[in-house]
Amino acid sequence: CGIVGYVGPRSAEDAVIDGLRRLEYRGYDSAGIAVVHDGVLTVEKRAGKLANLEKVLGETPIPLAEVGIGHTRWATHGPPNDVNAHPHTGAERRVALVHNGIIENFLELRARLEADDHELLSDTDTEIVAQLLELQVQSGEDLATAMQRVCQTLDGAFTLVAIDAAEPGKVVAARRNSPLVVGLGDGENFLGSDVAAFIEHTRDALELGQDQIVVMTRDAVEVTDFWGRPVQARRFHVDWDL
Ligand code: GLU
Repeated sequence: CGIVGYVGPRSAEDAVIDGLRRLEYRGYDSAGIAVVHDGVLTVEKRAGKLANLEKVLGETPIPLAEVGIGHTRWATHGPPNDVNAHPHTGAERRVALVHNGIIENFLELRARLEADDHELLSDTDTEIVAQLLELQVQSGEDLATAMQRVCQTLDGAFTLVAIDAAEPGKVVAARRNSPLVVGLGDGENFLGSDVAAFIEHTRDALELGQDQIVVMTRDAVEVTDFWGRPVQARRFHVDWDL
């Protein structure tokens, strides 16, 4: 439902939670965050309000990180509980993924994973994509290439945002039939399902087009199509108030 991504010098936790709070107006049933620090992925997610997640983060602090992603879920596949909340990870907990929308061919993709005795934890369509993405990076691809390959196999509507413990300082996101905007900062960059996620920090933005992938670091934002060909995303300035 609501999606946030951050890379830069701020605390990723603060930037992500702040972004999620600004997207709360959309309604949701669960919330979660993932960060990468020192090559280690940390994920926290809870059913219920953002306050539930914040309570857990208050009791068990997560590392101060430079890259993070967050999600507020509106369940379509599987009940709203802690396990089905996003982010989802691969089996080795190396890649974390958040997703808005519906993967229409997820049953077929799940059957393939199950045929390989791949253990799945949740009822969601999203976890299938997280598992596939992690298998791709485990095979030696970088996260951007892995995202391209996986997106080529997906049907439906999706905004996907992923981080990989082995590629710190990088967020990779993709979209089809579901919105994704990048907030361009100075030495930091933001991602959101809408501009409300980052408008407090920057009003310079990029609107990702259909079937595009963005690779975001502190200092660079590169956009390609699902086959890795460079494309131009629409740049705009948010000159209205929310
Ligand atoms: N289909 C996914 C799920 O049920 C994503 C739902 C959303 O857009 O929040 O977990």
